[in-house]
Amino acid sequence: MKKDYSDIENLKEGLLRGDRLSLSKAITLIESTKTEDRKKADQLLDSIINNTGKSIRIGISGVPGVGKSTFIEAFGLHVLKQNKKVAVLAVDPSSSTAKGSILGDKTRMQELSANKNAFIRPSPSSGNLGGVARKTRESILLCEAAGYDVILVETVGVGQSEITVRSMVDFFLLLMIAGAGDELQGIKRGIMEIADLVLVNKADGDNLPRAKAARQDYGRALHLFQAKESGWTPLALTCSSIENIGIKEVAQEIEKYQNHTKTNGYFASNRKRQALNWFKEMFSTSVQELLLEFSTINATYESCIEAVKKEKMTPGSALQKIKEAIRQEFLKSSNN
Ligand code: GDP
Repeated sequence: MKKDYSDIENLKEGLLRGDRLSLSKAITLIESTKTEDRKKADQLLDSIINNTGKSIRIGISGVPGVGKSTFIEAFGLHVLKQNKKVAVLAVDPSSSTAKGSILGDKTRMQELSANKNAFIRPSPSSGNLGGVARKTRESILLCEAAGYDVILVETVGVGQSEITVRSMVDFFLLLMIAGAGDELQGIKRGIMEIADLVLVNKADGDNLPRAKAARQDYGRALHLFQAKESGWTPLALTCSSIENIGIKEVAQEIEKYQNHTKTNGYFASNRKRQALNWFKEMFSTSVQELLLEFSTINATYESCIEAVKKEKMTPGSALQKIKEAIRQEFLKSSNN
């Protein structure tokens, strides 16, 4: 009999069994913008919350061409060899169908995607960074419920999306290549600062000496940053994703990080803080959306935007004005 995936109980049962199709369907459900689907999605997420949290969540970033998908394929296959399951998600607000965007191309990670213990999902194609981030965070929970031990969240090296991905993972890995120049790689100091490991890829063939030199440079640069709250000292390493060299060492480094942060309590406290921040962020966005449903508030908001744009009002006094409009609206409602 054909399974009814619109039934939450069926989806949950499939998820907890580790069924990949159920996981796919569940992610499609959380990506839906329909109100009825949202309700079901929340119901599903609530029902699996006790089955989440057991993975290591790893963020991977680097400019296009640095070798992210090649690395993920090599790293993912290494994870599979250890009898673990690996999921790959992406945060790419530029849409997964656009040329050059990540995970849009089906030919990537062929060997990995063919394995039944691997799950690869492109970035949700619509929405702003906030929307994509929410869906990815929820997808992480679904993957965990489906028994994935290692969850990789890939993003492109453009800035804001890295910061967002950092806020949903335990460990952040920055892929680099030698000789491209920091500016060319789009790597701002801030991105390097949030990395737990800087990995110089393509350390092979003629490029090996340059990769080694780059590793030293990045290693020195990492030393100049302030100590991390996690107590972790980030390293720079080299690897060749194509020749499968240095991949095992990356896994070992992540293992060390886990031991270190689980011992000092940071791992758990960081996750709690991430969940709380996520809630607060959604709260702010939702309150704003709710308020703008009132036509008078919306009109005042739009006029404030115009006034600030034309420098007729400072942002501070525009804020006062909108707060007053909100107060009036609520006074009106409570008098009714
Ligand atoms: P992405 O855009 O960051 O996902 O990069 P890709 O994984 O698609 O790799 C970009 C190009 O670099 C491809 O032609 C890969 O074959 C090549 N590449 C990736 N990793 C390595 C590596 O370790 N060594 C060498 N020599 N080439 C690599």
